[in-house]
Amino acid sequence: MKAAVIEARGRAGLVLRDIPVPVRQPGEVLVRVHAGGLNRVDLYMRDNGVGITHTLPQTAGVEAAGVIAEADADSGLVAGQKVAIFANAFCGKCRYCLAGDQPLCVRAHIMGEHRDGGFAEYVAMPARCALPLPDHVDLVEAGVVLTAHATAWRMLFGKRALRPGETALVVGVGGGVAVACLQLAVQAGARVLVTSSSDDKLARAKALGASGGINYRSEKVAKRVLEMTNGEGVDMVLDSSGAASWDDSLRSLRRGGRLVTCGATTGSNPGADLQRIFIRQLEVYGSTGASIEECRQLIALFGRGAFKPVIDQRFALEDFAAAYDRLERGDQFGKLVLTMT
Ligand SMILES: [Zn+2]
Repeated sequence: MKAAVIEARGRAGLVLRDIPVPVRQPGEVLVRVHAGGLNRVDLYMRDNGVGITHTLPQTAGVEAAGVIAEADADSGLVAGQKVAIFANAFCGKCRYCLAGDQPLCVRAHIMGEHRDGGFAEYVAMPARCALPLPDHVDLVEAGVVLTAHATAWRMLFGKRALRPGETALVVGVGGGVAVACLQLAVQAGARVLVTSSSDDKLARAKALGASGGINYRSEKVAKRVLEMTNGEGVDMVLDSSGAASWDDSLRSLRRGGRLVTCGATTGSNPGADLQRIFIRQLEVYGSTGASIEECRQLIALFGRGAFKPVIDQRFALEDFAAAYDRLERGDQFGKLVLTMT
């Protein structure tokens, strides 16, 4: 089968290879992959991978949807059935898994990070990670739902849920998670403000329901947020940028507001501004991935057509390098996706 395989670090080390179809282990399913979305972590795995236990060569890709090719008779899954893959082959036995909080699993084993991923014609994963999809869904769209939208779902609703009528600020709209946060927050009945360095991306965000856009290159973000919220600030900030936006994100919150972080692409160590956090009684918390139950809720909403994932561009598996380049430049609005068929 064809697969995008990381053989060595760096752009030249990720290559298209013809490799054997994976042999599924007992309890696993074999999935014929139709599509898989790109994510920032794919660049990290290609170029660095430090801190993640794995061995090269390894097939890339943390996201995939397709149809069951082989499954155990008692798995509840049948050949031909459409599934989206929950990327974390969680252990199912640790205290966090038993509590239904799989993203905190102490033995997390993520495809495309710790084991062979989904940028291939077939992938093998534990049957518990194959989440059934309604028959009518588009598998390319399904292939971009379980990373960005699932991450956004847990950020928005996982701990201190965003409520209808609240106002949220989405930092750096354009990336997959930020666009998904915008879509799901609008869907939940919240008012959504967005920031970007691109007026074009701000216009596209407004077309998706954002009620205000701030260009952080030409405007002062926190000042504009306060102007747009009668001097109060927003209830929730969704920030995957990190150091570059942190100060503005804290200053954009109302008293008692919450800042949710899911990424640090611009740096991990911003000024903490503890005085602002305790005096204004802000909540700051992290989020990554989503639980099986959160993914089921998300798939139910997706299956009903309540939102349509924004796909920036589709690439054939053979053209993965062009897709990675576009992701690296940050040109995209929404998701980049590789199609295998
Ligand atoms: Zn576990």
